[in-house]
Amino acid sequence: MSKPKIVVLGAGYGGMMTTKRLMQKLSPEEAEIVLVNKHNYHYQTTWLHEVAAGTRNQNQARMIISDVINPNRVNLIYDEVVEVKKDDNRVILKNSEITYDYLVISLGFETNTFGIKGMGKNAFSITDIDSSRMIREHIEYQFAKYSTADNPKDEDLAILVGGAGFTGIEFVGELAEKVPELCRKYDIDRSKVRIINVEAAPRVLPGFNEDLVQYAKKSLADRGVEFREGAKISECKKNSFVIGEGDDTEEIKAGTIVWTGGVTGSSVLSKSGFEITKGKVTVDGDLRAPDEDNIFIIGDCAWVMNEEEGKPFPPTAQAAMQHADTCANNIKGLLRHEPLSKFVFDDKGTVASLGKADAMGTVFNDNLLYGKPAVSMKKVIDNRYLFLLGGPKLILKKGKLRMI
Ligand code: FAD
Ligand code: NAD
Repeated sequence: MSKPKIVVLGAGYGGMMTTKRLMQKLSPEEAEIVLVNKHNYHYQTTWLHEVAAGTRNQNQARMIISDVINPNRVNLIYDEVVEVKKDDNRVILKNSEITYDYLVISLGFETNTFGIKGMGKNAFSITDIDSSRMIREHIEYQFAKYSTADNPKDEDLAILVGGAGFTGIEFVGELAEKVPELCRKYDIDRSKVRIINVEAAPRVLPGFNEDLVQYAKKSLADRGVEFREGAKISECKKNSFVIGEGDDTEEIKAGTIVWTGGVTGSSVLSKSGFEITKGKVTVDGDLRAPDEDNIFIIGDCAWVMNEEEGKPFPPTAQAAMQHADTCANNIKGLLRHEPLSKFVFDDKGTVASLGKADAMGTVFNDNLLYGKPAVSMKKVIDNRYLFLLGGPKLILKKGKLRMI
């Protein structure tokens, strides 16, 4: 008799950890495991702002999947998922198709431009390794062009970042570090380069602890980051953001424009006929899609309700990794006819980097961390993931080892 087939779509935080846990929890005789991913490498999405700013090489933020997932145990397929045909347990890939008995959808996020005119066409976004690498190369090109132009325009050096959530803030933190280096390399006066972070809400990092927000703003402003708060972007032109609407608008020009204004779930979900709320599927407590006995949806593709607060948990790597544990456990439960468990989020806090030498955040029951302790904590969080994935060997190979 053939073994049940578990197919995991997407090798990000959720997909990698689910696969890892399935390998640990199930014997090879119990099930066949298949992992499908667009590329033959896995990247840490949480490091992409560093790749985009050019403060970390892309190869340090990614790893070959078969180096951490044994290809003799898991069938690795490198292809793009196009659609799930849930009525007949099939997944359509760009170059082939596969069937499944159990499916895990962990395809992550896509950039959400909320239909802002010109944003999709004119702004870069920090979505994956390639999109991040393009930002780094574009910024450097602007510096090189400026240094050789007959009539250089200072506005070409400006970098506009739309949206000051955690991605925007962490990205301008890296830019504050990279820009002085580029200025030295191209012999450009640092005062000529503006880094401007534009936020629609009355203040940056809406909803986050006020003391930490003030700390972050001061740290970044001291290193030359400008903030525009209460400034809603209504349009993105080739070289500018338009702020405000109607007669009351302002245009800010720049040579580099990056949108960090929000994310939504993979568009494969809507193509596959799942019921969508704001780009994602609201999953049941056991992380299955509603009315689907054999399909789990996790990570940034899923809305998982925080029943205490009556709203979903924010999409984070921390949550995706915890979803993976519950998901793998529940697949084991289905295979062994055992009861399934409900997902319970264990909030370990949020730490954001402000460049390599500063950070801030909350850990363990809202304790506030600033400066060097926060920098060290951020590295511990990053390295912990590598440890869970590939043990000490992977930390030595890819980890953030230099404690400041
Ligand atoms: P991902 O990790 O994004 O993985 C999705 C995978 O699916 C990728 O490998 C992708 O290539 C693949 N894929 C996508 N579409 C297809 C397709 N059609 N076919 C085949 N493969 C496909 N969260 C934190 O908790 N802490 C942080 O410090 C933090 N920092 C962040 C910094 C940045 C710059 C960003 C952008 C996000 C950050 N987040 C952070 C959020 C976190 O990265 C996400 O919540 C997390 O990556 C979600 O995990 P996932 O497995 O759902 O998706
Ligand atoms: P986000 O949705 O959290 O933030 C987007 C920001 O853009 C918001 O502040 C929003 O007000 C602003 N915005 C939206 N439309 C705008 C407009 N028209 N004009 C100006 N500003 C506008 O998105 P994100 O920052 O990409 O974060 C996505 C998820 O990843 C979140 O859950 C976040 O917690 C997580 N994340 C976590 C970390 C960390 O823990 N260190 C780092 C990065 C991301």
